Amino acid sequence: MSAPSGPGTDAVGALVSVPSLLDWTRDALAPYGFHEHTALPLVSVCRDELMFGFVDAVTAHWGHAFDLSSLAGLPLMGRTGLAAALGHAPDDDGRHRLVVFAFPHIGADGGIGAVHRPGVPGTTAACGAVAVARTALVSGVSGVVLDPHDIEASLLVQRLRRVLGGADVPDLPAATELVRRVAVEELALLLADLSTPDLVVDWALVSGVVVHLHDVDAVTLSAATVVVDGASTELAPPT
Ligand SMILES: [Zn+2]
Repeated sequence: MSAPSGPGTDAVGALVSVPSLLDWTRDALAPYGFHEHTALPLVSVCRDELMFGFVDAVTAHWGHAFDLSSLAGLPLMGRTGLAAALGHAPDDDGRHRLVVFAFPHIGADGGIGAVHRPGVPGTTAACGAVAVARTALVSGVSGVVLDPHDIEASLLVQRLRRVLGGADVPDLPAATELVRRVAVEELALLLADLSTPDLVVDWALVSGVVVHLHDVDAVTLSAATVVVDGASTELAPPT
């Protein structure tokens, strides 16, 4: 597997290319019955247009994905959204399969947290939503009060505050990892509730961080779990 890198990317962990990651998911999940036409992909990623390259790669490997996106990639669609996705999953002899990709993102193009965008002078933030949430947390925003006109950002601050408790607000790479962890916990909670005696739902949850290097994306792979008939298996990451 190729090993892309860039200035400062040590802070986010070992990188693999996006196609390599997706090739690996296809190979690793096939023995569990997950194939392009037997599983529905779901993506929990930031709304940022920079993420469309990653989503396109998921589509190329797994078909069109159900979109769980919100600011920063926090999954806020809840049980209702996931139930809608399940209704779109292929029925393979009564068995339904979901492959969920939870990937917050970070820029590493002109410094950690920065990216160049076409037509935009200088660099801009990525993930801007995580950066804004960090600023709010540092300034003491509790996250208790939800702004109905800024609901996603409010919930992002709330979830991070809940996880942090009274701890110091981490730097951007660590805050991004925290978003990944919060997203995975929420998704695993919701996914675990899907199966019923009348409806078998197998699912896989793959997570990491998309890193925007100069003109190309790479990813960290943090965790990959597959659940079949309620039995959970941690997949060994590619080496
Ligand atoms: Zn973002």
